[in-house]
Amino acid sequence: MGVDVRGDRLTDKPQDLSWRDRFASLRPGIVGAAAALVIVIVFGAGASWFLWRDRSEVLAGTRAELTSSATAGAGMVERGVGTIDIVVSLAIDEFASGQMGLEDLKAWLLRQSSYSNALSSLSSLFLADAQGIVTFSGSNPAVIGLNASDRDYFTVHRNASGARGIFIDAPLIGRVKPHRRFVPMTWPLRTSADGRFAGIVGVVAHSESYADVFSILLTQPDQIMVLIDPLGRIYAMDSLHWPSLDREPPRPDFLLAPSDQRGSNSGMFRSDDYLVARTEVRGLGLQVATAVPVVSVLKAWWVRTWIAAVLIGLAGLGTGVLAGLLHRYVRELRRAATAAQVAQARAEAGDRAKAQFLAAMSHEIRTPMTGVLGMADLLAAERLKPRQQAYLQAIRTSGRHLLSVINDVLDFSRFNAGGLVLEDIDFSVAQIGEQTRSILAPTARDKGLRLTFDLSPDLPVTLRGDPTRLRQILVNLVGNALKFTSEGGVDVRIFAKDMNDEQVLCRFEVEDTGIGIPSDRLDDLFQAFTQADLSTTRKYGGSGLGLAICRQLVHAMGGKIGVKSDVGQGSLFWFEVPLDHARAEPIPHSVTWQEVASRPLRILVAEDVEINRDLIQAALGRDGHELVLVENGQEAVRMAGQEQFDVILMDVQMPVMDGIEATRRIRALPPPRNAVPILALTANVMEAERKRCREAGMNEVFTKPVVWPELFAALGAISQGKPSGSRQACQEQVELALLDEERIGSLGSMAGPAKLAEFLSNAMMSAEQLHGEIMEAGPEPAAVAKLAHRLAGTAPSFGLTRIGTIAREVEQRALIGEHDAALIGNLGIAVAETRQELVRRELVAAT
Ligand code: ADP
Repeated sequence: MGVDVRGDRLTDKPQDLSWRDRFASLRPGIVGAAAALVIVIVFGAGASWFLWRDRSEVLAGTRAELTSSATAGAGMVERGVGTIDIVVSLAIDEFASGQMGLEDLKAWLLRQSSYSNALSSLSSLFLADAQGIVTFSGSNPAVIGLNASDRDYFTVHRNASGARGIFIDAPLIGRVKPHRRFVPMTWPLRTSADGRFAGIVGVVAHSESYADVFSILLTQPDQIMVLIDPLGRIYAMDSLHWPSLDREPPRPDFLLAPSDQRGSNSGMFRSDDYLVARTEVRGLGLQVATAVPVVSVLKAWWVRTWIAAVLIGLAGLGTGVLAGLLHRYVRELRRAATAAQVAQARAEAGDRAKAQFLAAMSHEIRTPMTGVLGMADLLAAERLKPRQQAYLQAIRTSGRHLLSVINDVLDFSRFNAGGLVLEDIDFSVAQIGEQTRSILAPTARDKGLRLTFDLSPDLPVTLRGDPTRLRQILVNLVGNALKFTSEGGVDVRIFAKDMNDEQVLCRFEVEDTGIGIPSDRLDDLFQAFTQADLSTTRKYGGSGLGLAICRQLVHAMGGKIGVKSDVGQGSLFWFEVPLDHARAEPIPHSVTWQEVASRPLRILVAEDVEINRDLIQAALGRDGHELVLVENGQEAVRMAGQEQFDVILMDVQMPVMDGIEATRRIRALPPPRNAVPILALTANVMEAERKRCREAGMNEVFTKPVVWPELFAALGAISQGKPSGSRQACQEQVELALLDEERIGSLGSMAGPAKLAEFLSNAMMSAEQLHGEIMEAGPEPAAVAKLAHRLAGTAPSFGLTRIGTIAREVEQRALIGEHDAALIGNLGIAVAETRQELVRRELVAAT
């Protein structure tokens, strides 16, 4: 089988991909997941830090609040007990000093209970004698007679003889009905005579008052507050957590049972799960402790944490989905862009190829057309039968039409192949008008139409730009106007629309009284191959390219073009181009808008093809000019040296010596012979050719087949003694430099003189050899192009500027299928001159 498996593998080999390509090739899902992960990690880390700080702050804040409420609670207890202690101690002192009897003491203390809320518990006053038998109770007479000698609150005073002061006992359950829970506070009584222990005074503290106050001090939802002794026994508790104040309060979780405690005070609390704060009640051996479960403190914090987690999750999810979609979108866009690039590159290459092909083809057709039309013109001068005259007229009309179409196609395709180079020379606007008029006046006259030109006096006499192209646009517009007008006429106006020190915005208007253009067609009129309606070609001819070319030219000059038209009324075509002021001094001239009247001239014609000589003789001889005909450049130079001519018509391609070289030599003659105007005749319409002619010193360039009115106009101008064309500007142009001094200099300093000599001598040898091969290749464009390309590529690297530039031109001509022997000859001259110069400078050896 003919399948080359290895070859297939080779083409499938993965190329070195850039990171962009690698990224683009990832699946959108993976990109999305990665983006989500990044968001979750980054935001998660940030949020964790904030939340952790927040948690610490919440805990610290709560702890501070607990501490202050515990302190407040302890203060309350201290003040409550302290107030009672002061009053009771006062009474006891009175008793001890004998100023108050036992009955007075009872009555006084009971009375105090009604004076102040803080003293209300004095109503529960009780007394016991030295044996511990209760002798009095303010609130519960049932206890009278009970023996309390076993109670701590009694024994502590009896045993501590001499000691005074309050004792608060642990909570007890009453022995008589209603068996209420109470906290006894007792003080010792001593007789006044000998200070003997005489019993105790006690107050029963019920815990309601503390329970209520504690519950007011709570600031946190699940906070608990207790009054405890160092053993963890509960004396009081906030009323919210103490359902039945008569009973023992339930032991809160944060307070360990006495059996579980680990000695120290802080060991009483379960401080892993609770935040606890406690404050000593001074002087009573009690403390207020308050606590809140950590879980409850952090409830709001947990809500925040969850919200943050959910938000981050959502952000991650959203980002992931977005990133995935975006990636897919960008990937598709990239694919589309690549496809579009490929398509565009193909289309452009296709367009270029098409344009180059068209340019080459139309150029090929032009050359034989010259012969056909020339012969037809010659034939017209013969005596012919009317029928033959009619046939001949048909041949000439069709031929001219065909030529104008070819010219249009050539122009148009040259634009599209990127081959438009605009000239930038001084010129006279008046002269453009004059030339246009002399070209088209005959047509106007034949059709019986008015043709007027109005040149505004504001316009500078000379400006700078491309006069040939401006004339081409104007001729086209005026030609169209005449073509589509049958009555009335065409008025041309040229004026400065705007002007500053640097530029003039020059506006050209061409107004006719013709058929007009429907408004719906105005828009595409400037598109290629467009005519106002399909019957136009049949009736008026034309290719529909003229206006497209005008538009391209105007745009290339940085200007605008447009049209106003009414069907049946006529049209106004206009264009505006910015033109620089002329650099040279204005050329004095006096243009009359009259048709140019020629005086007979002495004309030297150098043309190698016989029928062309005959044609020129026939065309110019009729106007009475005196013609001297020669066949090549050498003869032309000889004749020009011997006699003074008014003008020389110089063919460019001729055997023995071409027109370019002949012109150079004529310009080198002694004055006044060197000043004769030289007009080039060439079948080559490329811009480069015009440039070459002008550089050699020719005044104007006419393309073959000759547009006779143009040539007549030029001869007319010469006969009136006006400088023709752009001679002045051409002479200003510098000759193409032979060598690139800078490059050779730097090559020398880089490589040293010996190596430089070697380089240059090799480069020269290769140039001479390539030129030889180009000569041998003859009219074989593909081979010439290849050889010239090599030469154009290497020569400039060694500073051989002129060789490189001419070789590049040879290559470009050859690429469009053109064989230019003169140019190749010039290349030879450049090669020889370059060697001569290098030898003179002793940079290379003579061959
Ligand atoms: P063509 O070579 O066919 O004249 P142009 O591009 O110069 O191509 O013109 C395109 C079309 O525009 C013409 O065919 C004609 O229909 C219309 N047109 C151009 N100038 C005028 C005018 N002055 N009056 C009426 N129609 C015009």
